[in-house]
Amino acid sequence: MDNRPVADLKCVGPQRRMRLEKLGIRTVRDLIYHFPRRYEDRRRLASLDGLMPGNRVTVLVTVVGWEERNLRPRLTLVRAEIEGEGGRGYAVWYNQTYIKRRLPPGSRVFLTGTVRRRSLLPEIQVDDYELLEGESTGLNTGYLVPFYPSSAGLTQRWHRLVTYQALAEYLPHVRETLPLEWRHKYRLVPLAKALRDIHFPSEEEDLHQARRRLIYEELLVWELALAMHRRRNVGGGGGIAHSRDNTLVNTFLRNLPFSLTRAQRRVLDEIFSDMEAPRPMARLLQGDVGSGKTIVAAAALVKAASGGWQGALMVPTEVLAEQHFLNFRRLLGSLGLPVALLTGSTNRREKERVLAGLEGGQISVVVGTHALIQEGVKFRALGLAVIDEQHRFGVRQRAQLPAKGSTPDLLVMTATPIPRTLALVAYGDLDVSLIDELPPGRRPVATYVLTGRQRGQAYRLVAREVQAGRQAYIICPLIEGRETEEAAAATARARELQERVFPAFKVGLIHGRLRPAEKEVVMERFRRGDLQILVGTTVIEVGVDVPNATVIVIEGAERYGLAQLHQLRGRVARSSHQAYCLLITENNRGEAGRRLKVLVDNNDGFAIAEADLQLRGPGEFFGTRQHGWPEFRLAQFPRDLAVLEQARKDAHFLIQSGYLERPEYAGLKALAEEKLASWEV
Ligand code: ADP
Ligand code: MG
Repeated sequence: MDNRPVADLKCVGPQRRMRLEKLGIRTVRDLIYHFPRRYEDRRRLASLDGLMPGNRVTVLVTVVGWEERNLRPRLTLVRAEIEGEGGRGYAVWYNQTYIKRRLPPGSRVFLTGTVRRRSLLPEIQVDDYELLEGESTGLNTGYLVPFYPSSAGLTQRWHRLVTYQALAEYLPHVRETLPLEWRHKYRLVPLAKALRDIHFPSEEEDLHQARRRLIYEELLVWELALAMHRRRNVGGGGGIAHSRDNTLVNTFLRNLPFSLTRAQRRVLDEIFSDMEAPRPMARLLQGDVGSGKTIVAAAALVKAASGGWQGALMVPTEVLAEQHFLNFRRLLGSLGLPVALLTGSTNRREKERVLAGLEGGQISVVVGTHALIQEGVKFRALGLAVIDEQHRFGVRQRAQLPAKGSTPDLLVMTATPIPRTLALVAYGDLDVSLIDELPPGRRPVATYVLTGRQRGQAYRLVAREVQAGRQAYIICPLIEGRETEEAAAATARARELQERVFPAFKVGLIHGRLRPAEKEVVMERFRRGDLQILVGTTVIEVGVDVPNATVIVIEGAERYGLAQLHQLRGRVARSSHQAYCLLITENNRGEAGRRLKVLVDNNDGFAIAEADLQLRGPGEFFGTRQHGWPEFRLAQFPRDLAVLEQARKDAHFLIQSGYLERPEYAGLKALAEEKLASWEV
């Protein structure tokens, strides 16, 4: 029943089937779980003598007669004279001349629309109607009427009808997922009722109860899947007890040009004791930008490698992979641990060498991008998987790296400060380590908001710093989803800056359209100090580490989220030199100005994240670029956090008590398994 294609429904022909597919709807169940975005209350009928212009109303009237007028070429007004409670009036449509045939004189009909004007008689511009008798479905009036998200060319009327049909066929067979006692305990309505009421509620309370039930179930399934995932991949038996011998690790740490901060040492202890324990580690390492997570990861990789296990570090961009690789090769190579790089642009010969080395066990540590989770990659003995900037990866991708081994330890790292409350949602079952201290001598980045006219001041500061031996980034405006345009603008900008503004300095350029090898060359020249100013797009946003850079100028600052700006600013907070962040915007008043002020006033990523959350809400905070954020149909955060915590406890109980294996939980278990499978494919 569940997987019956929508095409089985009476009113779905080939064309509509294709449109539904565009919305991701293939099966009858998909259709039913495509919930309304909003509802319109059409229960109260308005009287024709009390209509106010601008109001949306529903009236019950009789059609008296029709007229049609061409206002302009291609604009036809179709007007019905109507009669109902409170007198007479007009109902108008534009261009929909067929409506005359649908509603011949004498028809009794509900009309919903907007009151346009009131001269002598009121006029309603209609956007929905429902016949009182005859072909009536009763779906479009008289109650809280659903509106569906992005309709892909399907009308709301038709969407209501097809959903109604689907419910009529599906509900009698729907399998209840929560046993009676469970529903009693939380006073949840049965699934069938919830599904009907979420589409066609007769009153607010029904809608409210339907939502409660479905949100709880959605979160319970999510938490069950997370817990099952952890058991299967990291928590269920197996696991590696890494050696307690830290000789090589200590050599590694002694070779560093600095000593670890107290916070770094503490999290390393937490990580090491997880690694030494036989159960698999599943740990999130959180730490503000520049807090020194890389070195912690490196130490953990050394520990794994010194016991003969292999390690993998996955990062979201090639620029970052290259940087970590160079770093690790230097630090680990001197200990006799072979390090390799694997990205989408690794050439064939090198790739074959790396794949063979991983499978044969000659390579101890591999650094790479998504290329690491591709099919051909096999490890001889993966003992530790590390995912850096993990919020840039989807839930599924995060799961794929540890799956390359047999219950390896897993460390995921994030520099995007995620408010604690939300971390729970995104990470479910991970243990959390926090680096809450920056390396010594770091000073807050002095941050200023400037308008375009003050750009000259920004450039003077850049020149002053470069003259003092430091380096600078200049970030061009973000053009979301238009990388080519963005790259072209950055190229033009770099040339202009080189020729007109900084002829005495060397200006480099980096953007998303450069070939990886070209990016590498530019980054390498910048690292070496050959280039003093790097003009770029946000490809340098995450992870890039050139401690000598002390100024970042960000054009079009209002286009970024605060978390993203904080990340960008983090590029220059990597040494004990005073650093500067200059945010350029034409729009520093009102809302936009308040947001940028948060950044001026705060250097702490957590405080910024909380403020951003307050200002924009979680959806915006995570933004479209943050793929790691799970998507829920109904649940919203932080609103539903309490439900989530309950669901989390319940999920653990269901698994640990073995209840989930009982027949009355079979439906629930199937849903959780389906979710899990969607991550693991
Ligand atoms: P992030 O946590 O943002 O990934 P990185 O690991 O890139 O930060 O570290 C930022 C910079 O700080 C690097 O240049 C790194 O070498 C340096 N660093 C890390 N730990 C320390 C420390 N304990 N003392 C001094 N510098 C450190
Ligand atoms: Mg980093």
